[in-house]
Amino acid sequence: MSDFPLPSIIDRDALQGCRALDAANLGFLFFIGWLTVPDIRARIEQIIEDVIRRNRGEVEFHQAVREVVESLEPVLRKYPQYAEHKIIERICEPERQIIFRVPWQDDRGEVHINRGFRVGFNSALGPYKGGLRFHPTVYLGIVKFLGFEQVFKNALTGMPIGGAKGGADFDPKGKSDAEVMRFCQSFMTELYRHLGEYTDVPAGDIGVGTRELGYLFGQYKRITNRYESGVLTGKSPHWGGSLVRREATGYGLVYFVEEMLRVRGETLEGKTCVVSGSGNVALYAIQKLQMLGAKVVACSDSDAAIYHKEGLDLETLKQLKEVERRRLRDYLQFHPSAKCLQPKELWNIPCDVALPCATQNELDAEHARTLIANGCKLVAEGANMPTTPAAIRLLHEAKVAFGPGKAANAGGVATSALEMQQNASRDAWTFEYTERRLQEIMRRVHNDCFAAAEEFGHPGNYALGANIVGFRRVAEAMLAFGVI
Ligand code: GLU
Repeated sequence: MSDFPLPSIIDRDALQGCRALDAANLGFLFFIGWLTVPDIRARIEQIIEDVIRRNRGEVEFHQAVREVVESLEPVLRKYPQYAEHKIIERICEPERQIIFRVPWQDDRGEVHINRGFRVGFNSALGPYKGGLRFHPTVYLGIVKFLGFEQVFKNALTGMPIGGAKGGADFDPKGKSDAEVMRFCQSFMTELYRHLGEYTDVPAGDIGVGTRELGYLFGQYKRITNRYESGVLTGKSPHWGGSLVRREATGYGLVYFVEEMLRVRGETLEGKTCVVSGSGNVALYAIQKLQMLGAKVVACSDSDAAIYHKEGLDLETLKQLKEVERRRLRDYLQFHPSAKCLQPKELWNIPCDVALPCATQNELDAEHARTLIANGCKLVAEGANMPTTPAAIRLLHEAKVAFGPGKAANAGGVATSALEMQQNASRDAWTFEYTERRLQEIMRRVHNDCFAAAEEFGHPGNYALGANIVGFRRVAEAMLAFGVI
């Protein structure tokens, strides 16, 4: 006798369900047959063309979309339901885009007008989440590229957060504290109505650190009459922030690099590293690299690169950049033996590991050729989209391990999600515990990307793996929610 006897009474509802399912499967199989390989390719090209046509002049956004969408061809082939329900087309269109005027007065009483942005890109996995960038280059195309990247990055962390980005074409450089405060207050006076711990949770990015977040949070608290800690992340640990958030992007990047080296049977011990930038991401990447026995010989800011062959002195760097907000070339006053170069000359310095941690498109094909010729083994992105598509292609061809920002710099936003958890439970974790959680997340992100790249026939291609894993997580939620 069978262990699983058939039920003697036929469940009519179940039978109806099976018939409906069969009909759906038939339709589905028909769809697979119909959507042949060249069709998928043509469709992907069409999606990219439409994005370019409907978002004119937003070249960084076009670049970010092309990089992701072109890599999804094998996913559409394996899971045609994503094509059937137009998941990619929907993901490429932000759920909401807010643009607003930010008027403020400088210390002399002169009035200035900046433009503020917030793009809520996708909320399938959680409230909108992503930083604010204050920089003169900010316009809608930059905010959209960053928001688009954030959707996949946040999904990769495995935390319940959607993707967003915002900012303003305001330059905090050279402004007094009082001017920065007035700007932040004006910015938040418009933005507050779109935020909330269950709606949209901004954080920092270039030009927005603890000082700016303090002014933004203060204004939010004042005009909403609520102490809603979880509405912003990257806060100071003195008033609701998480320990490790400051270090998280840089530390997380180095944990990711450690994993990339581990699968190649190597470690960071004794490796020569070059890190671009000297902001929050770069400084804490340098710190963790040094803690793990690597030698970091160079970093940069927008007007110089410093090459210190004996290894950078991190204490001096932190004092100059974090405390005194000075230019990097002043490092030479403390270390006259170091060399001052043009920022782009940084990539000419021979190294084993190169970590672009400054800004988008800072590492181009020519830099990639030089790095390869100098024997560089690994490039991982601490910034968002710092490597041009042509440079990435060259690195892949030369078998240089390449860690894309979506995965490699996900530690910052992952720790923001840990900050949200602490705020929701009115708790504050220790440094050690929080760092352990960050490390576990980065290992998982690495392994998920690695496994997906292997599954889809491109072992070691982390860029492909990251796009596939991030996309599938968002796509599954969107499928479940229907056409919204
Ligand atoms: N701006 C950071 C990023 O690019 C952090 C965002 C956040 O913590 O929300 O991921």
